[in-house]
Formats: sequence, C-alpha cells, structure tokens
Amino acid sequence: MLSQLIFSVTRDRLQSPQNGLSRSADKTSPYLDSDFMCRVIMETSMIADIRVVAFAGGEPLLKKDELLGAIRFSAGKGLWTKLITNSYWADTPDNAVLMLSELKSSGLSEINLCSDDLQQGNVAIENIKNAFWSARQLNLPTLIINRRSKNSRVSIEHISQHLGVRLVRFDPEKNNPQHDVYTSSISAPIGLSSEWLNHEKQAGNMTDGYTWKTPCSSVLRSLVISPEGEIRICCGMIEQALPELSYGLFGSRALTQILCEANCDLLANWLALEEPYGLMQYVKSKAPDLMFQDQYVNHCHLCKDLLMRKEVRFILKSCDEEKSDAISLKRSLLEAVRNEQ
Ligand code: SF4
Repeated sequence: MLSQLIFSVTRDRLQSPQNGLSRSADKTSPYLDSDFMCRVIMETSMIADIRVVAFAGGEPLLKKDELLGAIRFSAGKGLWTKLITNSYWADTPDNAVLMLSELKSSGLSEINLCSDDLQQGNVAIENIKNAFWSARQLNLPTLIINRRSKNSRVSIEHISQHLGVRLVRFDPEKNNPQHDVYTSSISAPIGLSSEWLNHEKQAGNMTDGYTWKTPCSSVLRSLVISPEGEIRICCGMIEQALPELSYGLFGSRALTQILCEANCDLLANWLALEEPYGLMQYVKSKAPDLMFQDQYVNHCHLCKDLLMRKEVRFILKSCDEEKSDAISLKRSLLEAVRNEQ
C-alpha cells in the first residue's frame, strides 16, 4: 500500500564550500520546483494514505527555496517530512544552526545525514558534526546514514568517535531514540554515480547477509518522483528509467490510472510478493544457461542485474499463465487478509 512519497529534487551534488563547486554549476540540470512538488503532494494525498514525504537528491538543499515551500505545504497537511543531505551547508556551527532552524520552522520533521567514504571525499566530517549537534540543539530528530565498502575509512565507529557519542542501530520494529541512531548498509553498484565503486575490487564478495534474498519493501509502497518529474514505483533505482518501474511524467495521465496500472502490473506485484530472488529463480528455470552472480550486495543490486538485461526482461514479460495466476492469487489473498484487519 502506498504510504511514502519521495522527491529526488535534483541530481546535482555540491561539495563543501572549502572544496568548491561541483555539478551544481550546471544550471540546465533538471530539478523539481516547489509548485510542482506541492501539486504532487496534494494529488497523491487525495487518493492514497501518504504518511511520509522524503526529499533526496543529489543534494536537495541545493534547491533550498523550492524545498522550503514543499516542506511547508507537507507540514500543513500533517505529513512527516524528512530530508536526506550530505551536510555541505554545515561548514560552521552557526551556519548549521541557521539552516536547520529555517528547515525546522518550515515544518521539517527529521533530518538524515549521509556520512561515508564517498560523501567525506567532498565534504569535511566536521560538517556532519556541526549538523548533528545543531539538530540536537534544536531537538530535530536525526538519523546518520552510512554506506560501507571494502576497507571503508568512514565506519560507524569512526563517525561515533568523531561525534563523541555512541550511535545505536536504528531498528524499524522498535521505538528508536530521536538522536544518536544510524543505519548502515553496503554500497551496491546501482546508481549512475556508483562508477567509483568498482564492485569486484571494492565490494568483492560483500553482501548484507540475506537481504538480497528478502522481499522488496519499497515497490508499490513508495512513489518516487525523479528530477524530470517522472514517476517511479520504487526507490531502489531512481536514476535508471527502467520501463518496468517507470510510469511516465507526473500529470501526463490521471494519477488514479497510474496507480491502478502499477497495482495490477504483474512484475511490480511479483517483486513485492516474491522478491527479486524469486524472479531470478524463475528466470533460471526457463533459461538455465543465463549466468547470475553467486550472491548480491542486496536485493536492489540483484534487481538491477535482472531488469537491465534484455534477455531476462523478455523471459519475465512472457512468463507463463501458471506464474501470473500464482501471483494474482497471492495478491488477492494479501488484500483479503488486509481487509480483515
Ligand atoms: S528491489 Fe527492485 S523494485 Fe525493490 S526497491 Fe530495489 S530496485 Fe526497486
């Protein structure tokens, strides 16, 4: 059931002021403006039980004015808003407090600070510290997001030491503290900016345990809007416009029609109910010669390997009646159970 709206506000990233500008200098790069985001929030919340609106990038705060308008609008509708940032703006404690005060007074509910080798290649870890302590001072709930790779320098231990607190792992099943919490996962070579992560060398055989075999908790539950205004039905591969996970430009068709189509789509339901691992098993049964890795970093990594291969997509599209009946049955049973609750 759709419950989260994610705006990929811009693909641009900005390095810290001390390191200078990066791609943000490209003024032609697409981004989402405030009016458009407000329209999406209004239309989506009219037909779905949206609880969370997330703003991601690139670096969303490069479009601060657009962001403030959309945060204000969401907060006015009683929605939980969260912002995912690399803290480039927190180069001094004063700048950090200034920025976070403005965001909080606009209605921001939570801030997520990304800290890892990739981010800290451009932004000083001091910025994370400034953002973290300013958020605490303003009582703004904060989550540290860390991605690991082989021989990572910026580990959770490293960040904890730098912040001077003992960070505890976020547990989605529990009530978590408002501060001092983190999530950590292995960097998977998925996004367009992941070229730096030479999977063989950096990640090697790293995997997040069995997560690559677990069901996808995003597809059909999150609606993602790309910087071009395109609708995606999962947050795993925002940068790749895969036809199976993309539904055209927002506004090009009625949103109700798009959501109906997505919810009736065999592949979307298959991913949600039998996870990418189930798709791989099916493909292997139809084409035993097709090669797959022995393991993947996580389910999105496997999903990418499946959906970016023409021959795999062909097999999935022409799946037999037996399979589509089984998925339809599973979905109907799930709906029946939900309606009982
Ligand atoms: S597993 Fe696939 S469908 Fe699910 S979030 Fe990842 S990329 Fe999207």
